[in-house]
Amino acid sequence: KLVHAHKIPMLGYLHKPVSPDKLSEIMSQWGASSSENKPQSNKKIYSAAELQSAIANHELINYYQPKVSVATGEVIGVETLVRWHHPVDGLVFPDHFIGIAEKNHLINELTTCVLTNALTQAKIWHENGLNLRVAINLSMDNLASLDFQDLVVNLVTQAGLSPQGIVLEVTESQVMGADARVPLEILTRLRLKRFHLSIDDFGTGHSSLAQLRDIPFDELKIDQSFVHRAWTDDTLRAIYDASLSVAKQLGMETVAEGVEDQHDWELLRQTGCDLAQGNFVSRPLQAANFSTWTEEWKNRVRNGLIADSV
Ligand code: C2E
Ligand code: CA
Ligand code: CA
Repeated sequence: KLVHAHKIPMLGYLHKPVSPDKLSEIMSQWGASSSENKPQSNKKIYSAAELQSAIANHELINYYQPKVSVATGEVIGVETLVRWHHPVDGLVFPDHFIGIAEKNHLINELTTCVLTNALTQAKIWHENGLNLRVAINLSMDNLASLDFQDLVVNLVTQAGLSPQGIVLEVTESQVMGADARVPLEILTRLRLKRFHLSIDDFGTGHSSLAQLRDIPFDELKIDQSFVHRAWTDDTLRAIYDASLSVAKQLGMETVAEGVEDQHDWELLRQTGCDLAQGNFVSRPLQAANFSTWTEEWKNRVRNGLIADSV
């Protein structure tokens, strides 16, 4: 992990004592793997002005990733994940622009745009008889002023939707400032209005046990780094089990993120995790593709996905 953190290409491992043959075998891979060492072309840095005009020009598009019940396969809700359909660069992922929005005071504008689009979509789903819970991601910076809370409440009321159907996913993208009273007050007020609060990326240092003590969350999302392959890795499994257990003891619903294959899914089933989210179920989708996916998913469930063991 240290080597990766320093972006040093790693050819492999050698056990002591090192033999010249083994060393030259490993070094012969240098040429082949050095192509992986190409500069990251996609790491373009966007300016605040570019992002602002993207928001104004409706280039930010909501994708939706399903959250399904592990016990029954029922589609319970979706998480909204924003992408930038850039006119030149194509599809740009949130890691390339959320930080810029946060640093340049554009995050309230961005979140308002994501929420507005998500509410419009939620309304369409409801009108079509799909009662999906819609989750959106909040940045800690969104929780810096009480105005934002009023905005969320007003938008949801104007859309004619009930707060119970809206899940607010929160992580600490930066350490909560010395004064945690404002975010705490906003989250508590939103909870009193019956919004569902979800603690995202649980266990990754941004989300800690202290937050569970202080904030009345309804849902705990076990971070994908503790879910995928937990069935075969004892350390991951211990963290996964502990997270599940703390959530159950606190009466919270559990969501496992990053469910990538049948093995991951089976672990959730065996351990009684409530909801699953990940590429095994579905990648994030544009709303237009949602009903096709729903039909495919129903078929997978009917064909024994739930009952099968690996
Ligand atoms: P997140 O909230 O933890 O979202 C889950 C991320 O995991 C998404 O990445 C999703 O595409 C990805 N993912 C889903 N299933 C799998 C899987 O099976 N395996 C793996 N390896 N990954 C999976 P994405 O869409 O790139 O979003 C990255 C992060 O950007 C999100 O992490 C969230 O923190 C942030 N983000 C996305 N949309 C918004 C937004 O509207 N507002 C804010 N403030 N943050 C957002
Ligand atoms: Ca999230
Ligand atoms: Ca997450």
